[in-house]
Amino acid sequence: MQLPQRVLLKEVGTRDGFQMEKQWIPTKHKIEICNLLSDCGFQEMQFIAFVHPKAVPNMADAEEVLQNIRRNPHTNYSALIPNRKGFERAYANGIRQVEMTMSATDSHNISNLNCTTQQSLKRVEECLALGLDMKLAVGIAVAFGCPFEGRPPFERIKWIVDSLVGMGIREIGLADTSGVGDPRQVYEYACRLREAYPEVHYYFHPHNTHGTAIANVIAILQAGITTIDTSVAGLGGCPYAPGASGNVATEDLVQVLEAMGIDTGIDIDKLIAAANRTEEVVGHSDSATLRAGKLDQIVEGGPHYQCNL
Ligand code: MG
Repeated sequence: MQLPQRVLLKEVGTRDGFQMEKQWIPTKHKIEICNLLSDCGFQEMQFIAFVHPKAVPNMADAEEVLQNIRRNPHTNYSALIPNRKGFERAYANGIRQVEMTMSATDSHNISNLNCTTQQSLKRVEECLALGLDMKLAVGIAVAFGCPFEGRPPFERIKWIVDSLVGMGIREIGLADTSGVGDPRQVYEYACRLREAYPEVHYYFHPHNTHGTAIANVIAILQAGITTIDTSVAGLGGCPYAPGASGNVATEDLVQVLEAMGIDTGIDIDKLIAAANRTEEVVGHSDSATLRAGKLDQIVEGGPHYQCNL
């Protein structure tokens, strides 16, 4: 296996996870979870989104969360934005790193952002034209499969990446938003994109809708993409598959990578404590770690299981 020595995990639970919650999460709890996660050692946290509060009610207090979290000097705090308005709001609030989202297919883009993919590309240009001191990444949603149009052909993804690179974007996310990608497809798309633009820093945003997220991560690591979005307690979801799993649980991925000898830089005990508290706050989780405990407890002969093959 071609594996890296180190993987960079970007924690997105308080953004991608909380935005899916129907119940209002009190601001103080959002701040508390952000603080617990900040202590775990993440280099990157996408902790809020600047979106319309009617579209995503749980992000309505983004400013208050931002002003009150305790910042770890070793963590970069970024926000998700859908358009220029979000970009300007983030900038006005002192954020200097944002991710704009757009979809690989027009159907998903229209459903999610009320405009075509081409129009979203225009929005990226509009943001860049402001000339602000802001690092802008672009995440391509449903890159491996769309609930309306199925698998987008590679040429479609390539066209979006060509356009973004032409504008000067050097940080591009490949999101399996519906969690329908498979390891072979993910590996092949990633290899071809890396070959086309080795100067781009790609990252992967897996969802675990069909239980394939960790397999897809291992596949994409072998293609040389080593920045992965994950979500504490496996929060998140897929609005087109009610009851679906969320993002891959950060603690599950940390455990499997560390078991493989790949460094994540994350304090697993602090992370499990944060995941437990997150589960208490939102009332659910989707995490093998929270169900089954730590991987090394089993290796070191912790509990004795009656294993029936
Ligand atoms: Mg997501």
